[in-house]
Amino acid sequence: MTDARIAGLRVRMGEHALDALLVTSLPNIRYLTGFSGSHALAVVTARNAFFISDSRYALQSAREVKRFRRIIGSLGLFEDAAAAKTLRGCRAAGFESDSLTYAQYRSLRTLFPRVPFRPTSGIVESLALVKDRREVACIEEAAAISDSVFHDVLKFLRPGVTELEIAAEISWLNRQRGAESDAFDVIVASGPRGALPHARPTARKIRRGELILLDFGSTIRGYCSDLTRTVALGGVPRRLREAYRAVLEANESAAASARGGMTARALDAVARGCIRRRGFGRYFIHSLGHGLGLRVHERPRVSALSPEVLQAGSVITIEPGIYIPGSGGVRIEDDVLLGDRGCRVLTRSPRELIVL
Ligand code: ZN
Ligand code: ZN
Repeated sequence: MTDARIAGLRVRMGEHALDALLVTSLPNIRYLTGFSGSHALAVVTARNAFFISDSRYALQSAREVKRFRRIIGSLGLFEDAAAAKTLRGCRAAGFESDSLTYAQYRSLRTLFPRVPFRPTSGIVESLALVKDRREVACIEEAAAISDSVFHDVLKFLRPGVTELEIAAEISWLNRQRGAESDAFDVIVASGPRGALPHARPTARKIRRGELILLDFGSTIRGYCSDLTRTVALGGVPRRLREAYRAVLEANESAAASARGGMTARALDAVARGCIRRRGFGRYFIHSLGHGLGLRVHERPRVSALSPEVLQAGSVITIEPGIYIPGSGGVRIEDDVLLGDRGCRVLTRSPRELIVL
C-alpha cells in the first residue's frame, strides 16, 4: 500500500517537473510513511525515499515506517537530511509551501545551496483525496464511536449542566469507546450561543426551551469522524423548529444527491436551495462540507464557490446549518462516502429532532 502511495507521488512529482519532494506536513508524512509521531521529515526522490526523525522516535518509527530509508539523526531534520545527502544531484526539489515556515525555507537554502527549491501545494493531499478500503474502514469505525457517544451523552443533558461539563463527558465517552482522541475540540453551544457556528464550550448552564448543538469527532488510526446533532431541551419556539426542519431537509436532500462526478458547488446548491426556499437563506453562513481523512478538514471543499469535481471514493461531510443571532443555531452533520451513483452515509445517529 505504501509502495503504491510512493509510486503515485512520483507520478505527481513528474507532472510538476520535480525530482524530489520534501514532505513536512505531519498528516502527509503519516499518509506516506505510516509514522504517527510529531517530529519527522520525508524526502522522496525519483529513486529513494528517506524518513528522518530523531532518537525520541527511533523505536516507534522502526515499528511504523516501512519502505523508507530511516535516518535517526541528532542535528535537526534538515541538517540530518543534508548530512545524508538526500538531495544529491537534484535539479528541482519541491517543498510544501502550506506547512514550511520562512525560517525553515532559509535554513534549506543555506544547507542545500545548489538545489533549486520550488514551492508546491496540495500534491500529497491530491493523492489522499480518494480513500482505500482500509482508510474507509477507519473512518467508519470512528463514525460508529461518535454515534455511540451521541446516544449516551443524551442521558447527561439536563437543565443546569454546563456546556463545559457536556464537552468533558463527550471526550470521556469518546475515549471510553475506543477512540484515540477527539478529532478536534468538542463544540457545545446552547441557546443563543448556538448562533456561533464554532462556539467554544463555556460555563453556561443549559436551560429548558433551548436548542443544544453538539459537534465532535473521534479518531481511529489517525482517521477522523465529524458529527453534529442539535437537540431540544423541552419545547422550543416555533421559529427554531422551522429552522430545524429546513436544515434536516437540506441535509437529506444533499445526501440523496451526493455522488462522484458532480461539482462541489452543485452539491452545496442542493442544500442551500432547500434552506433558501424555507426563508432561512441568509442564516446559512458557511459552506456545506469538507473532506475528511487524516485531517478533519481536507480537500475537497464543498462550497458554493468550488468548481472541483467530487470523486467517488472521497469521504466528505454534509453539514448545513442555520444560525439566528440572539436566538440559536441548528446544524446536522453527517459523514458520507461518495460512490459513482450515490453515497453511503457513515454516521447513523437519528436526524429527527430529539426533544429531551
Ligand atoms: Zn463537525
Ligand atoms: Zn465538519
